Formats: sequence, C-alpha cells, structure tokens
Amino acid sequence: MILDKIILATANPNKVKEIKDILDGHDVMLHSLADLPHFSPIEEDGATFEENALKKAREVYQKTKTPALADDSGLEIDALDGRPGVLSARYSGKEHDDEANLRKVLDELKSVPFDKRTARFHCVIAFVGIDVAGQYFEETFHGACEGWIIEEKRGTNGFGYDPIFWILEHDKTMAELEPAVKNQISHRAVALKKFKEFFLA
Ligand code: IMP
Repeated sequence: MILDKIILATANPNKVKEIKDILDGHDVMLHSLADLPHFSPIEEDGATFEENALKKAREVYQKTKTPALADDSGLEIDALDGRPGVLSARYSGKEHDDEANLRKVLDELKSVPFDKRTARFHCVIAFVGIDVAGQYFEETFHGACEGWIIEEKRGTNGFGYDPIFWILEHDKTMAELEPAVKNQISHRAVALKKFKEFFLA
C-alpha cells in the first residue's frame, strides 16, 4: 500500500508527539485533528479499546477520505478488576484531568500491598484507508506494557498515569524514562511497531 499521508485521529498533543516520534524516519506526512480545528470531538462510547479506536479512525476517514490512524489506550489495574480501562481519560469524572485521575487510582489502591498492584497499559491502533486494489480497508494492532502502580508519583516526563507506573526492567516509572526509551517499550510503541511492519517496512 502506498501511504504518503495519514491523519492521526486525535488532538491529544502527548499522543500526537509520541506517534510522530515513533513513526519518524518513514516517508509519510502526518497530520492530526489539531490541524483540522473544524472537526468536532469524537465521542468514545465503546466498551473496548478496539471499538473506540475503530470508531475514531472510521469517522476521520469518512469525513476526510484520507487514510486515518487512531489510538485508543488506557490503564488496566488487576486489583481494581481492570479499571480504569476504557475510562482512563475520564476516571475521576473530569475529562483529561491527569492529576485527578491518578489521585483516584492511588486512593482506591491505598490498602493494596505492592505485590498485588500489577497493571498494564494497553494501546489499540486502528487504521482505516484503502488497499492497493482501491478497496476500503481497516485493521487494528494491539500493544501492551506491564508494570506496577507505586504509591507516590515519580518523574515528570510523559503524561497521564506515567508517574505512578513502575517498570521492573528499568527500575523507573514511565515518567522517569527518557522519552526515546518510553517510545521503544511502551504499549503505543509495541502497537505502532506492528502497524509499521504491516504497512511501512
Ligand atoms: P483515550 O485513548 O483518549 O481514551 O485516553 C487514554 C487515557 O489513558 C489518557 O488520557 C491517559 O490517562 C491514559 N494513557 C494512555 N496512554 C498513556 C501513556 O502512554 N501514559 C500514561 N497514560 C496513558
């Protein structure tokens, strides 16, 4: 498939930056919804990351007739039966309030010992476009990253739940990692690597 232009179906500047950095080096022009200010926000009402990612990519492709790539991601915590999950961006009730969302998680885990604080980030990348034969085409790619939720914030890089997500292999939180390292190992990096192998290799 010839891919020279993709619209990222998100206006989240943190996600846009990470996706652009991870896809850097490929000859593809990346735009995002931040470049299309007339585009109204897409409601994320699906029950799974996959449903939400596909919904965003489909809507952007249908409106722009340009290949679209969407990321839906979030944090799954075992001691909270998988929450915040698809509600990660609005767990505290306030949309995209990272600090309030993270505080709610720490509150709920107050009496949970470290060995029971296992968690993982998930990312589903959905791509919608046309294939070499000019046929409508859609595909999803999943990535995950395993870790533990610590008791207090550490580090200032990244966004969202990064300061409380600790990774054994690095003995650091995601927010203590250099962005280039996060972009090698994160859930988003794993999903985008699969996307790259499929389309851009
Ligand atoms: P959505 O995919 O726009 O529904 O939002 C995903 C939410 O999950 C973000 O607002 C963050 O709270 C969280 N999240 C997703 N990816 C990351 C990440 O790489 N680091 C930290 N938090 C993340």
